[in-house]
Amino acid sequence: MIIVISQGATEEAVQKLIADVQDLGLDVQGISGVGARILGLVGDTSAVDIDALNANDAVEKVTRVQEPFKKANRKFHPENSVYDVKGIKIGDKQKLVVMAGPCSVESEEQIVGIAQDIKKAGATFLRGGAFKPRTSPYSFQGLHNDGLKLLDIAKKETGLPIVTELMDIAHIEIFEKFDVDVIQVGARNMQNFELLKELGRINRPILLKRGLANTLEELLMSAEYIMAGGNEQVILCERGIRTFEPYTRNTLDISAVPALKKLSHLPIVIDPSHAAGINWMVEPLAKSAIVAGADGLMIEVHNNPKKALSDGAQSITPAEFAGTMERLRKVAAVEDRTI
Ligand code: PEP
Ligand code: MN
Repeated sequence: MIIVISQGATEEAVQKLIADVQDLGLDVQGISGVGARILGLVGDTSAVDIDALNANDAVEKVTRVQEPFKKANRKFHPENSVYDVKGIKIGDKQKLVVMAGPCSVESEEQIVGIAQDIKKAGATFLRGGAFKPRTSPYSFQGLHNDGLKLLDIAKKETGLPIVTELMDIAHIEIFEKFDVDVIQVGARNMQNFELLKELGRINRPILLKRGLANTLEELLMSAEYIMAGGNEQVILCERGIRTFEPYTRNTLDISAVPALKKLSHLPIVIDPSHAAGINWMVEPLAKSAIVAGADGLMIEVHNNPKKALSDGAQSITPAEFAGTMERLRKVAAVEDRTI
């Protein structure tokens, strides 16, 4: 981190600043030139409060030279992180994971039927929301605990591990009771820091979705919240961000894949369904995700999209999913990968 000292700063103020920074355990190296004085801070600057430094009259400007995230940073963990969930590897060099299922769990018949179909087509995880974050309070909010029970039934019927969204700290206990294999933090909760801290205390993989208008650094800082608490099993998920383009529900930021791969060792899953918001666009976006280097996909599949209680427009049918999987396998093969 580099601090440019203000032109009019008194020596006393600069010495006080240096002492404060040294108190944080950092070394300070000064460079003085004509009309400019610079301090280089050497050491772990992740706990430095940039806003507080900027508020100091002796400071003209502060520039970071290192990323503020440590545990999620590839620099300190060059190898890709790989997690084993019931024998399925997330982040595997060769094999991608496919998480598929309805937006919402609606009934036993629905979730078990879809689970059987997606398993046959080669999906590795069953997804389905029991607690739904909806824009309108009048929309279907999910079946809550009954939804978790139905996911558990579908898991026992098919052997597919489950991924489902947690919205409230108070529900962690029941998610643990139902042995939810991967806990999803939805886009709207990406910066619910108290929730992230609590999830840092458990020992279960967390699928962390990127917020609707969040930067990659913010996503990685949210991952850092979970990891700093001791739970290092974070999976990043790009699910489209808000842009000025209204044709699609969101805009899939495909460059997030190589960028996150460079910055971090955490596995990355792409959700083309929420990115597009349109069923026929799911397959081409999923193909692009594989080519970009994603570790997995999350795809919404519904037995009757027209009647779905949420996100029907972006859901594909089990038959369409089976066809898409066939074609995704061919794309994966080009990249020397499998699905
Ligand atoms: C979902 O997965 O159904 C969902 C609500 O996702 P997101 O948080 O990405 O909108
Ligand atoms: Mn959805």
